[in-house]
Amino acid sequence: MKEDLEKRIHTLAEWLYESRHLVVFTGAGISTESGLPDFRGPDGVWTRRDKGLPPKATGRSWDSVEPNRGHIAIVELQKMGKLKFLISQNVDNLHLKSGIDPDLLAELHGNMTKLRCTRCGKKLDRSVGRTICECGGRLVSSVVNFGEPLPEKDLRFSFEHSRKSDLFVVAGSSLVVTPAADMPLEALRSGARLVIINQGETPFDQRAHLRFDEAIGHVLPRAVKGLKRLMGLFE
Ligand SMILES: [Zn+2]
Repeated sequence: MKEDLEKRIHTLAEWLYESRHLVVFTGAGISTESGLPDFRGPDGVWTRRDKGLPPKATGRSWDSVEPNRGHIAIVELQKMGKLKFLISQNVDNLHLKSGIDPDLLAELHGNMTKLRCTRCGKKLDRSVGRTICECGGRLVSSVVNFGEPLPEKDLRFSFEHSRKSDLFVVAGSSLVVTPAADMPLEALRSGARLVIINQGETPFDQRAHLRFDEAIGHVLPRAVKGLKRLMGLFE
């Protein structure tokens, strides 16, 4: 653990306190702490593939995976009215499972538990077991495969909120996939503070105002606790 960790967490808590339009952006790194595989991290699926290694076995099914301290810290930010929007690259449903308001969430790569109507764009739970939407359109997996366009509405909201943000917190993404990686850039152009919590390098490290290489679960819950203290909310 780096010596100045406490100081950086305190700074993040202050920035959360001062923020008027907080946007959080999450990638696979937040879910690895729930036992799901990462893609680009030090032990990520792609990193290992590049070395000729198989993915690390998790030994768990998707259904049994639960939100972790990082997801819960983001829900706390929502409860305090601080979170204005959450953008996620994850398809694992853990943000919704943790209690995030669907109206505050953009799932750029879809959600493995949801179907999407090819005509009206409506999303339905996979468990309803239907193949045709009320509008007559066909229901397909909402997960966006490589090379497919990202969902239009999620993308539009993400860019709008990135532009409005004054504090943009990246948690667990290496920010290498566009257009997602353009969102912190939009935030920076609008004068937002950029905070990156990611184990492993990102192309934005030099431009980040605050950088954590520590686990999200070691940073975000403590920053939220600091925020509560600043807001006069005691646990
Ligand atoms: Zn429809």
